[in-house]
Amino acid sequence: MDCIFCKIIEGTLPSKKVYETEQVVAFHDIQPKAPVHIVIVPKKHIPTMNDLQKEDYALLGDIHEAAQQIAKDLGVAQSGYRLVNNCNKDSGQIVFHIHYHLLGGEPLGDIVG
Ligand code: C5P
Repeated sequence: MDCIFCKIIEGTLPSKKVYETEQVVAFHDIQPKAPVHIVIVPKKHIPTMNDLQKEDYALLGDIHEAAQQIAKDLGVAQSGYRLVNNCNKDSGQIVFHIHYHLLGGEPLGDIVG
């Protein structure tokens, strides 16, 4: 499958990983929009939020667990951070493997994303 994030998960494309479990991987965004910008990805290939099935809902817990841990590890748990999912064209989604951006390390303003 021609999916950039599947290749990162498999290890055939390099990334700076900060977190990995059986279900989830997280790495530094290559074009960071904030001092801390991590992409959190379930290993299961799900294109967008619209494609999530009830059987995938546990993954959302896994992603939040990852976000908590990463925010703590990277020192933004107390200062604050944002978790963002882009879904389809108008949101700006460019990689069609569901993922969540963890952004922090500076005041993020009042526009989400
Ligand atoms: O939510 P959206 O699809 O727009 O974001 C995809 C993100 O994946 C971008 O922020 C982009 O910089 C990041 N990316 C990455 N490593 C890649 C390809 C894309 O961190 N190899």
